[in-house]
Amino acid sequence: ASGSEENDVVVIGGGPGGYVAAIKAAQLGLKTTCIEKRGALGGTCLNVGCIPSKALLHSSHMYHEAKHSFASHGVKVSSVEVDLPSMMAQKDKAVSNLTRGIEGLFKKNKVTYVKGYGKFISPSEVSVDALEGGSTVVKGKNIIIATGSDVKSLPGITIDEKRIVSSTGALALSEVPKKLIVIGAGYIGLEMGSVWGRLGSEVTVVEFASDIVPTMDAEIRKQFQRSLEKQKMTFMLKTKVVGVDTSGNGVKLTVEPAAGGEQTTLEADVVLVSAGRTPFTAGLGLDKIGVETDKVGRILVNERFVTNVSGVHAIGDVIPGPMLAHKAEEDGVACVEFIAGKHGHVDYDKVPGVVYTHPEVASVGKTEEQVKALGIDYRVGKFPFLANSRAKAIDDAEGIVKILAEKESDKILGVHIMAPNAGELIHEAVIAINYDASSEDIARVCHAHPTMSEALKEAAMATYDKPIHI
Ligand code: FAD
Repeated sequence: ASGSEENDVVVIGGGPGGYVAAIKAAQLGLKTTCIEKRGALGGTCLNVGCIPSKALLHSSHMYHEAKHSFASHGVKVSSVEVDLPSMMAQKDKAVSNLTRGIEGLFKKNKVTYVKGYGKFISPSEVSVDALEGGSTVVKGKNIIIATGSDVKSLPGITIDEKRIVSSTGALALSEVPKKLIVIGAGYIGLEMGSVWGRLGSEVTVVEFASDIVPTMDAEIRKQFQRSLEKQKMTFMLKTKVVGVDTSGNGVKLTVEPAAGGEQTTLEADVVLVSAGRTPFTAGLGLDKIGVETDKVGRILVNERFVTNVSGVHAIGDVIPGPMLAHKAEEDGVACVEFIAGKHGHVDYDKVPGVVYTHPEVASVGKTEEQVKALGIDYRVGKFPFLANSRAKAIDDAEGIVKILAEKESDKILGVHIMAPNAGELIHEAVIAINYDASSEDIARVCHAHPTMSEALKEAAMATYDKPIHI
């Protein structure tokens, strides 16, 4: 591989942050090596995150539609069954095709790929324990740490990936659990809860906080929770897990009110712990070269993604900011643009967030609570999908668009969409917000009819004037 030859850029970690940084660096003419310990590129996102979860969300949605919605559309099916091994195989095929695709992109862009565990021996040298045995030293003028994050458990709970699973185990269960308890009502817990709920599990979500997905706009969150409850997801909010017992057949989970009080015991076949993720820097030798981290282990960087050690950079889940694949990618591009002497920029306030349930919830910019807290005078424009012709035509009209705009200037501050495909619809708003558009700018753009996107246009009209269709 790259041996002792010096690279311009060495990337440790081949996730969305690392592999994108490596490709971009090579495209900018920098000699680049990427080190990955997993044996496959794509990181958490491709191997055990975004991609396999979206594959299962889609397959389980198809099953659920076939079972519960086809008949009302006049499509008769005599028997609908889940074939879990085939469903898992389709997911695995999607993952392996995509990870191999990145290897192809590395070859095309002349990125050297070293398979192994990297650790610092100096700020410009990384020793790699190769997966195939032996070790090599990779040198670089610039090193980018893109080692991502790992599953976080809770005190006293040991994840065995069989009965007590992390998201990784929840993506590979060998049968549909009759009862599934999800600890943590963040987006990963709700997505995985949706998958198994659609396939037949009775799903209970236990959450310490008083709300699900705390970063979400409260009004949207309320509607979202109601929608999930209609799908038979049960929520136990303000509830603390105090003990877990796996000595019997299933799992017994003891919980009590977060504020203290009487304990109850819940039973499940599988418990999914999705209580957040933690930056991963184990075995990297950060202390050896003196790289600074914060209290929760995130690597601290300046606006050019450089750590306190010159020549050592960090991007993605391992630094502060939203722990999302597209944010990691943006970090990666900006970081190598700086290294190449250009200018890079990522605005974390304008990173969209999507929960891929059905309906999906997508948002960009500020929530109404944040706008209020900042003391900004604002207007709200809303439009329900019940009044959107396309949503009615396809009989999938649960959801709403909510736009927050500055009162005086009409500048868009935040957009929140709950709808089927909200994750695609949001990008019109992402562009608008990045170009400091006003809601009138969106409203005056001709939108194709009949589309779900028209709901965004109408919500924009509602912000400064009146919508037409409600
Ligand atoms: P990672 O993807 O974690 O990659 C880091 C890589 O570095 C890993 O492959 C690791 O093996 C490697 N590595 C670590 N240490 C070393 C070392 N010392 N030497 C060599 N290699 C090393 N985000 C979204 O935006 N959308 C989604 O829909 C979404 N869904 C998710 C669903 C689940 C179930 C999970 C768990 C996460 C999801 N995420 C999603 C989050 C997303 O996966 C992460 O934000 C993203 O992967 C972060 O990218 P990264 O490159 O920083 O780190």
